[in-house]
Amino acid sequence: MEKTELIGLSKEEIAQEIEKLGEKAFRAKQLWQWLYFHGVTDFEKMTTFSKDLRAKLAESYKITRPKIVTEQISKDKTHKWLFEFSDGQRIETVYIPEDDRGAVCISTQVGCAVGCKFCHTGSQKITRNLTAGEIVGQFMAARDAYGEWPSPTDETRYLSNIVVMGMGEPLHNMENVIKALKILTDGDGIAISKRRITLSTSGIAPNIVPMIQATGVKLAISLHAPNNEKRSQIMPINKRYPIEEILKACKAYQELDGSHYVTFEYLMLKDFNDSLDDARELMDIMRKNKINAKFNLIAFNPWPGCGFEASPKERIAAFSKELQKNHFSAPIRTPRGQDILAACGQLKSKKDEKTAPKGE
Ligand code: SAH
Ligand code: SF4
Repeated sequence: MEKTELIGLSKEEIAQEIEKLGEKAFRAKQLWQWLYFHGVTDFEKMTTFSKDLRAKLAESYKITRPKIVTEQISKDKTHKWLFEFSDGQRIETVYIPEDDRGAVCISTQVGCAVGCKFCHTGSQKITRNLTAGEIVGQFMAARDAYGEWPSPTDETRYLSNIVVMGMGEPLHNMENVIKALKILTDGDGIAISKRRITLSTSGIAPNIVPMIQATGVKLAISLHAPNNEKRSQIMPINKRYPIEEILKACKAYQELDGSHYVTFEYLMLKDFNDSLDDARELMDIMRKNKINAKFNLIAFNPWPGCGFEASPKERIAAFSKELQKNHFSAPIRTPRGQDILAACGQLKSKKDEKTAPKGE
């Protein structure tokens, strides 16, 4: 009989499995802690269990990490993994270190159905959703690499934050993403605070509030254009969920979330959305819709064949200044891990000769 995978089971599901084995209920909490607090992958290491119970567990269950196909560390210490799951599907995960902490960027789908014109993942179509276990497994494998088990206290963590900004559209995989985020934030296990997790979406409007209500994580919207006409050109999903609908959901989120502001990612594309008029239009829609907006200005990471160019530094600086002059926060995000194609929008699941960086 095929063994049942334990990684990705909810607390309730772990309790049910323990009950099936005829064990006392408190064993469920212990098992949860072995899996998610201590990060063990071997039943023999579960020393609070009798030899009998360990053998019983090993007979029917397994604890799997995604398989590392390749691993690269950039000049700036950004760490990228290409992981493979049991069916052979592959995704990438990135760790972006800062001085004393850092964020793990996790993927939620193999490919993506949204098909944004500037995104490498979007050029790959959708293959399938990742399971809750595969989503959580990416973070656990990253922790393995840095030896962060058992879960350290919040202040001493090197892998302190999570950004759901890897491959895929998280709001197209609601059930599994919600389940994964509940596991990642559970205080008896991995215990990453909700406030240290940011989920980014291309704007699947009806799913925004349900996701935040279910998980309490922070929201970022990939806006990238100041009006529907331009946005539809680069993000076909905008025809289905235009800016006003997304902003309506943001308004509801703003009222739900204690911090009362919404972060918008804005990709700076040369001669497309980077003029001062674009900046003004952007501020106008936020004012009109009563959104307390913060912007992250993202430098575009080109990939061969993408057809867009990055906006020049001076223009990004002027755009940022215009927003800040009007009291909108608008930091410029510099790309990390570019030499290993680990930056936003560069992740992929397939080896593709054409995508090798120029000059290599
Ligand atoms: N699907 C979600 C989350 C993954 S994409 C979303 O779209 O929000 C994470 C971020 O990377 C998004 O803001 C996306 O617009 C951005 N991105 C995509 N391609 C990029 C590129 N080539 N350069 C810089 N950022 C890019
Ligand atoms: Fe999908 Fe996000 Fe890429 Fe758009 S930017 S194609 S939504 S992963």
